[in-house]
Amino acid sequence: MRVYNFSPGPATLPEEILCQVQAELLNYQNLGASVMEISHRSPEFEKLIVKIEADLRDLLTIPNNYKVLFLSGGGRMQFAMVPMNLLRGKKTADYINTGVWSKMASTEAARFCEVNVAGTSPDPETWQLNSNAAYVHYVANETIDGIEFPFIPETGQVPLVCDMSSSILSRPIDVSKFGLIYACAQKNIAPAGLTVVIIREDLIGNPIPTTPTMLNYKTHADNNSLYNTPPIFCWYMAGKMFAWLKQQGGLEIVAKHNQTKVTKLYQYIDQSDFYLNQVDKRYRSWMNVPFDSIKPELAGKFLQEAQQQGLYGLKGHPLGGGAFRASLYNAMPEAGG
Ligand SMILES: *Cc1c(COP(=O)(O)O)cnc(C)c1O
Repeated sequence: MRVYNFSPGPATLPEEILCQVQAELLNYQNLGASVMEISHRSPEFEKLIVKIEADLRDLLTIPNNYKVLFLSGGGRMQFAMVPMNLLRGKKTADYINTGVWSKMASTEAARFCEVNVAGTSPDPETWQLNSNAAYVHYVANETIDGIEFPFIPETGQVPLVCDMSSSILSRPIDVSKFGLIYACAQKNIAPAGLTVVIIREDLIGNPIPTTPTMLNYKTHADNNSLYNTPPIFCWYMAGKMFAWLKQQGGLEIVAKHNQTKVTKLYQYIDQSDFYLNQVDKRYRSWMNVPFDSIKPELAGKFLQEAQQQGLYGLKGHPLGGGAFRASLYNAMPEAGG
C-alpha cells in the first residue's frame, strides 16, 4: 500500500511512472538491458534525450534562444555556477532573500562578488535594485518557509535568475522574462541527481577565468549535456515526468489541480482553531505548506498518528517554517491535499 507522501524532496512520484519504470527496468526498448546500463552516447539514449528536451520545451514554451542543460550537482552547485558564469566582468549581484534557500544562495555568491541584498520580502515595493548588478537572483518558492512569488519580478535590462527548484512545472511561466532558471530535480521532476538549467544563449561563454571546465555552462551547452557521464537514470525519469505532465493536458491544467489541492488545505488550516499557517496570504506557497498547532507538545503524537493514517513525511524543517510541512508537488494526488 502506498502512502500519501508529503516529503519535501526527494518527493513523491506518480505511481503510473513508477509502474512504467518497473516494467521497463530489465529490458528497455527490447535492448535486453535497462536504461541504467547503456552508454549515454548510445543511439538509444541520444534519441531519448532529444524527446525529453522537446517535451520540456513544449511544456514551458521555451524560446529558441535558450539552451536547456541537464546537469548534476544539485541546486547548491548552481549557487556557485551562477555567479561564476554570470558576473561577466561586473562586481556585484542583487539577491532577494525571502527565506532559507535564497540566503544560502547569496552566501555562496558572496565568495565571488559583492552581494547586494536588494530585498527580503517578495513585495517589489520594498526592493532597492542596483542598476549595475550583473543579475538579480530570487527563489520562486521557498521550500522551507512556504513563501512563493505569485508573479515574475521586473528587472529591466538586468538578467533575472531564478531558483525554481521546488516550483518548476507547477504552473505556466513566461521563460522569456528570465536570463537563467535552475531547478534540482528531486522536488517536482525526478529522483535526486539531476539539475535542469534553462539559460539565455547570450549569457553563456564569459565565466570568470578560473572557472573549472565542469562548472562552465558553455562546456555543457556545447556538448548537449553529454560532456561527462550524466545521471542517466534521473534524466530518463525526468522524461517520464514531462510526458506525464503533457498527458495531463499541460501546465494550465496542472496549475488548476495544484491550486485546488492547496486551497483546500489552507482553508482547512484557516478555519481550524488548532492549526495555523503564518505566511502572508499574498505569498503563500502552492507547493509547500508549513504549519503549526497551538499545542506544540503534541507534535510527535500528530506525526505518529498521521503516519498510521497513511500520511507520511509531514515533519517540518528544523531551520524554519513550522513544526509541520505538507509538500503538495505535482505528483501529489488531489485526495492527498
Ligand atoms: C532543495 C532546494 C535546493 C537545494 O538542492 P540540492 O539539490 O540539495 O542542492 C535549492 N533551492 C531550493 C529552492 C530547494 O528547494
